[in-house]
Amino acid sequence: MLRVADHFERTDTGRARRANEDSYFARSPLFAVADGMGGAQAGEVASGLAVEVLEQGLPDEGGSIEERLASRVAEANERINALSREDERLAGMGTTVTAAYVGEHELTVVHVGDSRLYRLRDSSFERLTEDHTLVEELVRQGKLTPEEAGAHPQRSIITRALGPEAGVQADTLTFPARDRDVYLICSDGLTSMVPEARVGQLLRSASTLQDAGRALVDAANTAGGRDNITVVLFRLEEVHAAGVGAAAGDTARLTGAAAAAEQPTATGAAAPRARDVRGALAEADTAEGTPAEPRRADPVPTGVVPRRPQPPSEAHAPVATEGRRRRRLRIPAGAIVSLFFLAAILVAFWFASQTVYFVGASDDGFVTVYRGMPYDLPAGLDLYSVNYESGVPVAGLPARQRQVVTEHQLRSRDDAQDLVRQLERGRLQP
Ligand code: MN
Repeated sequence: MLRVADHFERTDTGRARRANEDSYFARSPLFAVADGMGGAQAGEVASGLAVEVLEQGLPDEGGSIEERLASRVAEANERINALSREDERLAGMGTTVTAAYVGEHELTVVHVGDSRLYRLRDSSFERLTEDHTLVEELVRQGKLTPEEAGAHPQRSIITRALGPEAGVQADTLTFPARDRDVYLICSDGLTSMVPEARVGQLLRSASTLQDAGRALVDAANTAGGRDNITVVLFRLEEVHAAGVGAAAGDTARLTGAAAAAEQPTATGAAAPRARDVRGALAEADTAEGTPAEPRRADPVPTGVVPRRPQPPSEAHAPVATEGRRRRRLRIPAGAIVSLFFLAAILVAFWFASQTVYFVGASDDGFVTVYRGMPYDLPAGLDLYSVNYESGVPVAGLPARQRQVVTEHQLRSRDDAQDLVRQLERGRLQP
C-alpha cells in the first residue's frame, strides 16, 4: 500500500496583494488548496471555511472515496453560500478547492475552479486537473487555441467556485498512484506567473520537497508575484501493510527498478487510467450539454465568477527627506496666510473627493469601482484610485448597462459596490 513519505507546504502573499486569501490543508492522507475571492476579507473567509470543512476528513459513510470527498465539498459550498447571504460584507464570496486523498493504491481528487494538481512521475510532469475558467472552456470547445487563451484578457475569470451558488458541480477523479510519485497542488498565483514547463523543471531539479516548494514560490515572486502563491507538495512511497517496523527496510529495497516493475500489477487493469477518467468526464460534460456557447454579444455566461478584486492601490506619498533649512526665507506674512488657506482648501477638497465613488472601466476594460472623482489634475495627478476591479468586461455589457460605466456618476461606496455586484451576477436589469 501507499503512504505519504514526505510533504511540504508554503503560502505566500506575493508582491502585489496586501492580504493572503489562499488557504491550504495538509494532514496525511488529505491535502488541499483553496483560493478565495471576494471584496475585503471575504476571500479569506471563503477559503478558510473550505479548509475547515475538509479538516473533518472524509465522512464515515456515503459510498466511494470520490463520493465522500465530493460530499465534503458540497458541504463547504453550502456553508460558504449560507454565510455569504447572512452577512452583506461577505456577499458574493467564493473559493476554488483542489483536494487530493491518498488511498491504498490510488489518489482521489475533487476539484472546483482554477487551482491545479500536477504529478511528477519519473521525469514526466503532468497536469491532472482542468481549470474551470472561461478561456479553458473555450479551448475545450475548440473556440480558442491554448496560445490565445494564455494571453486572453479574461483568462482569470473562473466559471465554477464554492460559494456563489446554492449548488456546485465538482470534478471527481481517481488516478492509480505509484511509489515515488510527487504531487503538487497549487493556486493560480504560481501557474499564472511561472510557465508550466518551468514548474516541472524546478520540481525535477530540487533535491527535497522543501527546496522545490521554496523554489516555486521564489519563481512566482521573481516573475512579479501578482497574486497569492500557495504550494502543497507530497511524495508517496510503497510500504507493505504488514507493519511499520518492516516498512523502512522494504521501502529501501523497493526503490528502483523493482518498484517500477511491481507497481503496474498493483494498480493494473482494475483501476481506471487517468486518460480514461478524463475522457469519460469530457463525454459526461458534452452529454450534459454544459454551457451552450456563450452569445457573442454577451461573452460572460451567467454564473461566471469574477476573480478576486485587486486590492485598492494606495499610492504611498514619498516621505519628505528634506531636513530643516538654516537659511531663513523672507516671505510676507500675508502670502503665508494665503498659502495656508489655499493648502487647507486643497486638503479639504482632497478629503471630500475621497468620500465619493464612481463606476468606470479599468485600463484592461473591466468594470471597476473607483474611489474619488473622475478627474485628472495637471502633472499626472489623479483624483481617484481603484477600489475594486471586477471580472466583468465592459465590452460584454449591453448598451444600457455600458452607459452606467461610462457616465461616471458619483455614488456612495455602497451604491457603487452594489451596482458592480449586480453586474457581476448578471442581474442588473438593462
Ligand atoms: Mn489566486
